[in-house]
This record gives sequence, structure tokens and C-alpha cells, in this order.
Amino acid sequence: MATAPRFWRENPSRYNLVGVKCNSCGRHFFPPRTICPVCHRKSVGMMERVKLKGTGKIFSMTEVHEGLEELSMQRPYFLAMVELDEGVKVTAQVIDCEACDLEIGMPVRATMRKLSEEGPSGVIHYGYKFVPVNLKAKAEGPAH
Ligand SMILES: [Zn+2]
Repeated sequence: MATAPRFWRENPSRYNLVGVKCNSCGRHFFPPRTICPVCHRKSVGMMERVKLKGTGKIFSMTEVHEGLEELSMQRPYFLAMVELDEGVKVTAQVIDCEACDLEIGMPVRATMRKLSEEGPSGVIHYGYKFVPVNLKAKAEGPAH
């Protein structure tokens, strides 16, 4: 029951979205939690850490115009709620789609990107963002 499909091991570590699966009801959760909100006490000891595939569809989205001064160099960006294949909804920025038309239902996949770099000490924060799957496929297509 706890056997992980082979492709999880083969996934590059940068798609390292780790959530949990409740082995009582089979639901996935992200970020990981220790108790299933559906099963409560029945889920104790049955929450299993799993890597999420990182692929899903745009469920809803918002265009964000940052007002903070230190972020004034950033363009407006899209924040999307993505419904992953496992049924979990996560909110993250959608990137690599400057001129593209994001649509509800558009397939996306997670990628780890640098989120920010702090001051002279250079502390770098990484996190997951989403890229449209179809656009990526076009960009990686055969050269002519
Ligand atoms: Zn459950």
C-alpha cells in the first residue's frame, strides 16, 4: 500500500513537492500535516509523506501588482491556485508566460526557482513556482 511508483524516484529533486497522503481516506495534503482534517483520530499514524508529481491545472488566478518599494523592479505577476493531479490545491506564482494567455484549466507543472536573495549576505530562498506545460513544450521543440 505504501509502495511509491517508480517515477517518483526518477523525478529530478527540483520538483520536490512533498506532501502527505492519508492512508485512511486516500486524500493528499500540501503542505504536509500530521492529522487528516477529514479522518481526524482515525488518521493518526497513517499520514504518509509522499512526493507530489507537481503537475496540475490552473484552478483560478490573479494578477498581482506589487506596491512595495523594494519590489518595484518586478513586473506584475500571476498568482494562481493550481489543482495538482493528486487533488491538492496550492497557490504559487506562474512564470515563463510573459505574453501568454493564462487560462483556467491550463496544464502547468511545478519548478523550483530562486524566490529572493537577501542583502549582502546573499541568503537565497528557493521555492516552487509553476510554468505552463504547453508553452514549455513549444520552447523545447525541435529547432528548424
Ligand atoms: Zn483522511
